[in-house]
Amino acid sequence: MIGVEKALAAVERAVSPLPGEAAKLSRALGRTLSRDVRADADFPAFDLSAMDGYAGRDFSGEALRVRGGTLGAGSPPARPLRPGEAVRLMTGAVVPAGADAVLPLEEAIVEGSRLCYRGRPPAGAHVRRRGEVYRRGEILLPAGTTLTPEAIALCAAAGADPVFVRRLPRCRLAVTGDEMVDPGSRPPPGMIRNSNGVALIAALERRGVAGTRAAAIPDHPGRLSKFFAAARGADLVVTTGGVSVGDFDHTIASARRAGYRVLFHGVAIKPGKPVAFGRAGRSFWFGLPGNPVSALTTFELFVAAALDRFAGRRPSPTVQARLSEPLTATGKRACYLDAEIEAEGLDRRARPIPSRGSHDLKAAARRNGLILLPAGGGSWPSGAIVPVKELG
Ligand code: AMP
Ligand code: MG
Repeated sequence: MIGVEKALAAVERAVSPLPGEAAKLSRALGRTLSRDVRADADFPAFDLSAMDGYAGRDFSGEALRVRGGTLGAGSPPARPLRPGEAVRLMTGAVVPAGADAVLPLEEAIVEGSRLCYRGRPPAGAHVRRRGEVYRRGEILLPAGTTLTPEAIALCAAAGADPVFVRRLPRCRLAVTGDEMVDPGSRPPPGMIRNSNGVALIAALERRGVAGTRAAAIPDHPGRLSKFFAAARGADLVVTTGGVSVGDFDHTIASARRAGYRVLFHGVAIKPGKPVAFGRAGRSFWFGLPGNPVSALTTFELFVAAALDRFAGRRPSPTVQARLSEPLTATGKRACYLDAEIEAEGLDRRARPIPSRGSHDLKAAARRNGLILLPAGGGSWPSGAIVPVKELG
């Protein structure tokens, strides 16, 4: 059995970022850039008006002479302004050369072709200058950035469509056990509903990997070996169940037979102690325990770390929170407790959720985070600062 830090380090060492590929911006939400995005031009690309109004030259006098016509967004650049001249223009229009400022419509008094104003607009007022946001060639988003709607908008403005992002991992999921029936059916005595299959699909989807199916395989070495042999082409293989020392726990041996080298089996954490990690060439396998809360907690710790590495993005950080009530832990393993984490002024508050154990999905379904208590145990008073991991 190894410690959680060592196990995480083994995952981070073993897994490297997947190759880059082109992706259309319309399909790029949540993907991670494999290359920097650079500006292909200055932005704004020309001096433009930030208001509907009048561009004028020489507001020091009493009035300006308005020349005919109106410039709209999308109009080609108009001829420069002569001294004492103004032109009506709308937001987004190119400001003609020679203009000192834009006078908003609300402040303009027009009589015939005479433009008067109460206050003189300061130089440059309401003019967005060429290149004031960014310059051609500038790095706008570095490789490793995960694309949000705002970042996608920036890529579009900078002409980066398609963008280069890390390929998504090809995944194979399987739950193991003779006792499984589908969630939609009623289990006969001794059987249970398979909750891990849909949970793993959802956990992957929350991290941007959609469309994976989960096989359900009985505790049969031959059937398991067949699954692993077929799964070897995948970047990521995740199984649940069959990794303990029970008479019907065949997952580890079957993975080995298919060529997976086991890099660890057993981590000093609660829940999730029997979790295993292996590799066969470029294919990585996580053998998660069968208990539903253990499976999802070890997913969030270890599989999530591998997904971050595949994508070339930084792992989500462990943060601090104030305990809402006292906690005591005993034993050699680090504890990951279900918690409700909420903002409390500038701080976070973590409220532990009472749980019957690694089968208590009623408790886990309320969690939005985990409280991390270190190996070796201890007591923490109410108000103590503890490390927490936010989920989602
Ligand atoms: P195992 O790790 O295979 O020994 O399973 C531990 C416990 O988790 C047993 O009570 C199993 O019935 C239960 N379990 C295993 N797989 C699943 C699953 N896919 N969905 C719900 N419970 C499961
Ligand atoms: Mg089992």
